[in-house]
Amino acid sequence: MELDSDYLVKTLQELVKIPSPPRGEEKVAKLVVSKLQEMGLRAEVDGYFNVIADLGSGKRRVLLNAHLDTVPPGNGWTIDPYSGMLREGKVYGRGASDNKAGVAAMLTIAKALVTQHLPGRLVLLFTSREEGGGKVRARRGLKDKVDVDAGICLDHYIDAEDRRCEVVIGCRGIANVEVIVEGKAYHSSEPELGVNAIYRAYDLISELRSPRILQRMERPLPVVENVTVTVIKGGEWPTMVPDSCYMNVNFRLLPTLSPKDAVRRVLEVANRALKHGFKVRLKGGLKGYVIEPSSPIAKAALEAAKDEGFKAWPTVAKGWIDAAQLHRLFNVPIVSIGTMTRGQAHVKDEYVKVADVLNGARIAAKTILNFFKLSGGS
Ligand SMILES: [Zn+2]
Repeated sequence: MELDSDYLVKTLQELVKIPSPPRGEEKVAKLVVSKLQEMGLRAEVDGYFNVIADLGSGKRRVLLNAHLDTVPPGNGWTIDPYSGMLREGKVYGRGASDNKAGVAAMLTIAKALVTQHLPGRLVLLFTSREEGGGKVRARRGLKDKVDVDAGICLDHYIDAEDRRCEVVIGCRGIANVEVIVEGKAYHSSEPELGVNAIYRAYDLISELRSPRILQRMERPLPVVENVTVTVIKGGEWPTMVPDSCYMNVNFRLLPTLSPKDAVRRVLEVANRALKHGFKVRLKGGLKGYVIEPSSPIAKAALEAAKDEGFKAWPTVAKGWIDAAQLHRLFNVPIVSIGTMTRGQAHVKDEYVKVADVLNGARIAAKTILNFFKLSGGS
């Protein structure tokens, strides 16, 4: 199957020219709808500017997803972040990689498949609010509208030059645990009569840095956790022993654990290190996910990448990814594969290499067809 590379690049440029911060996706959603209509597809837009369309028919159904919103440009750009400029095989602008490359790839794939007889159904879901808050609410309504057997997120990188393609089959979870360590204020000329909350926090941090508290798993892939203290605030006055110290402990959890597990472990460590005089609370978190590398959608993607001459392997993402939420929402296996250029998400002078987005799109298209074949066609 041939993809129209001119269409891919032009569409990507058009998409980049429309700013689409979280909650500002209306215009870009409209462009996507009009592109789908040009192909003769009917698209539905919900109140949050998620766009859904589908094509083909048959029992097997697969989801293809990318997100419409981008982070704001931020400072320090040397070019117009909304130019969509094409230079030396790269398209520049905010969202060029993350994630409008994926959106353009989806439209290009749809355009190629719409004229073919598909042995299954392809559901296109363009999501809003990936980068901002409130996505749980914005996506709740999608549960009833999308009915699929598996899914492909195009929100990862690929390296076309070195022919390397990761197939993401899961991600670690995240938890932010808030700890308040208590002490006793006193005049700093006689600190031994107070209890220094910063020193107590230090004792706790020392324990938290011990690799003993990290869990690991071996199957289906080896994954190790991280714990990092990311915020610390303590003390109020230069001549007073501080009576409280606040900190945020950031966990990157095994994909199978819930954020509550992080709280349980901080409590254990605090009980050991401090015994009393502390408060621990879960501030927020998201569960990761992992699927079997032998599941049809993962196999379909791995084979597709190999067919296109790539070295491909399954991996569990270190950071939390949107595929985890889609996995939970639709209750099906999801992989994330690339159309982005590595290191080009949320950076100034963002770009995507045309070769990356084009090869990523080819692999995604082949993954869809492989999935229909592997899962028994229509
Ligand atoms: Zn993204």
